[in-house]
Amino acid sequence: MIINFKTIIYKMYLSVQQKVLLLQFVMTNELLDYLTSEEREQLSHCTLCPRKCGADRLHDKKGFCNLGVSLSTALIINHKGEEPILSKDKGITNVFFSHCNCQCIFCQNYKISSNKTEPKNLYPTMEEVIDRIISVLSTSENVLGFVSATHQIPVMKAIIRELHKRRCYPKIVYNCGGYESVESLQELEDWVDVYLPDWKYADNELAQRYSSAPGYNETVISAVKEMYRQKGSSILTDINENIESGLIIRHLVLPEQLENSKKVLDEIAWEISSNITLSLMSQYNPPFVLPYSDLNRKITQKEYNEVLDFALESGFHKIFTQDLGSTDSVIPDFDNNTFVNNN
Ligand code: SF4
Repeated sequence: MIINFKTIIYKMYLSVQQKVLLLQFVMTNELLDYLTSEEREQLSHCTLCPRKCGADRLHDKKGFCNLGVSLSTALIINHKGEEPILSKDKGITNVFFSHCNCQCIFCQNYKISSNKTEPKNLYPTMEEVIDRIISVLSTSENVLGFVSATHQIPVMKAIIRELHKRRCYPKIVYNCGGYESVESLQELEDWVDVYLPDWKYADNELAQRYSSAPGYNETVISAVKEMYRQKGSSILTDINENIESGLIIRHLVLPEQLENSKKVLDEIAWEISSNITLSLMSQYNPPFVLPYSDLNRKITQKEYNEVLDFALESGFHKIFTQDLGSTDSVIPDFDNNTFVNNN
């Protein structure tokens, strides 16, 4: 149906810009058909994330994330670089959405996550998205990750519903920045199998400076508490050691910010539990020259070891660690729709 519309629009006597706008209008309306009335209602006064902009995205009014109603899937790809329990041998299928409710100045996905860019819409129709996911899943583990889906929760649910209609039931991983609304997470209880949140900062000043995320600390504490309420501290697998459900908290070690890392670990142990699974990430890599000199280098092995030792001393005993050399293989290349040096 949409393909016919596309052909008709391309043949119309209109300027390129008019054609793009018209196509966008048609695709938005097509997407609305996949959303429930509750989801449309949510988008008409958006409070999906803690920013609670109240934007009427249904009528193309934009909030902080600068997105109306759009699939905006920037990349759907097999990813072998996630935590081994998720990637296993064949890798997981990751769906990357354009734009984000956080704006980390060091984001490795900045080409698609920056809210200043035009949203990338690599698979413009739901049918293309579903076909692509099924195709990538056929060569991956049966695990589907949604990356930075916070501002696209209704779209994520619509995608899952369509997959179920095609009898495709992957385990769902919700991979997010930890800047989440508890109400949205409560709604996700029956949709998400594995939560994979970042816990970036214990220091709100740092969160504001580097991620434009006011009140990050209180927000991540209540968000992860809700995830913990849903999943507990154990990771469940089936008899073949395929992931069933769980919570894995990620922390990215930043150069010169070891005190922040230690405070984060203290908070996780105090507010949640040191029995949870931790993923201590060393992959920080400045994407370009940043306005803060301390951020313009990778971390050292010594820095990483100091944080790891602190985690062990604090009682964490289920920790995924990361080699410093693994940086390139886990960074998506959004220009070429692949991974940097991904063999
Ligand atoms: S998802 Fe976007 S529009 Fe909605 S509250 Fe968050 S930033 Fe605002």
